[in-house]
Amino acid sequence: MKKRILLLAGGQSGEHEVSLMSARSVLAALPRDQFDVTPVVISKQGRWLPPTDTARALETGEAQGGGDLVLHRVASAEGYDAVFPLLHGPMGEDGTIQGLLTLAGIPFVGSGVLGSAASMDKVMTKQVLASAGVPQVAWKLATRRDWKDRPESVKQSAEELGFPLFVKPANLGSSVGISKVSRPEELTAALDLAFSLDRRVILEAMTRHKPREVEVGILGNDAPIASPVGELSFDADFYDYETKYTAGRAQMHIPARLPQDVAKRVRDLALTAFRALDCAGLSRVDFFYVEETGELFLNEVNTMPGFTTTSMYPKLFEAAGISYSDLVTRLVNLALEER
Ligand code: ADP
Ligand code: MG
Ligand code: MG
Repeated sequence: MKKRILLLAGGQSGEHEVSLMSARSVLAALPRDQFDVTPVVISKQGRWLPPTDTARALETGEAQGGGDLVLHRVASAEGYDAVFPLLHGPMGEDGTIQGLLTLAGIPFVGSGVLGSAASMDKVMTKQVLASAGVPQVAWKLATRRDWKDRPESVKQSAEELGFPLFVKPANLGSSVGISKVSRPEELTAALDLAFSLDRRVILEAMTRHKPREVEVGILGNDAPIASPVGELSFDADFYDYETKYTAGRAQMHIPARLPQDVAKRVRDLALTAFRALDCAGLSRVDFFYVEETGELFLNEVNTMPGFTTTSMYPKLFEAAGISYSDLVTRLVNLALEER
């Protein structure tokens, strides 16, 4: 019997559009002899669009219309064998939708509540990975309350890390709200921006030289495998939103031009991180490699990485001999697997 799959796309985060792009690719690639796929686009307001509005949203990228609130629909989403929550960022990749699906008793693609939440929050990720011995840049946490009541102590934290440094909302993606702060005078604006988007903000020391950005894909549940390592190169000062989503701004290199021992360390550390954070299904694990010093730092773990046919994660597995359509099939089967 064909498995009935509910493909969720769009969602309430700043990465809504990115998700729609990924969903078009996945929808086209899931083999129809094995799966009966129903797409549902979630609007930015959190409403599940009915079929015609979903079709229009996938076509035009404009998710308009009414529909039920997420909570209503999940509670009545029985009848599906599995859900593919192809959603990025808050309310999609952070454990919230995973919690609802768990309550509803429906298997789903990707990490569960714990892995999703721990990987989404950059501070929590750093804490977990530190205890697993994974190398990371120096960092400090500040809360909105700290910034309001004790701004001098937040500035002091920045001084201790030194400039330039990065200021980031703890729970976002796609570089939204991230600033590179080169001088103390730029700090207030960077913190105001980050705190307008999140209650928790991470301050991060910058690597001593502009790092090379290398990424690896992980696939599996309790016996995960690592893809070959890939690299992104670009001219911009850092990998910001524009560079990520403007065609031609960044180049992908697969495999990354790395010494063999470095590539091996990347893959091993990524597997360690995947296990330490209790991830499942898939993750793309991103690193900074400082060529001048040979240092390697784990930057972040993305539990639902960009998933168009030209995105890094599927390209990495294509290089390992797993086609895009095989990859999505495997992911759904991993969701259905007994664990
Ligand atoms: P997101 O989850 O939004 O992708 P990242 O933590 O990956 O956020 O940061 C986005 C980009 O900012 C990185 O890909 C890199 O170019 C730059 N960056 C972030 N942190 C640092 C750092 N500590 N040192 C150097 N570059 C950094
Ligand atoms: Mg991210
Ligand atoms: Mg990133």
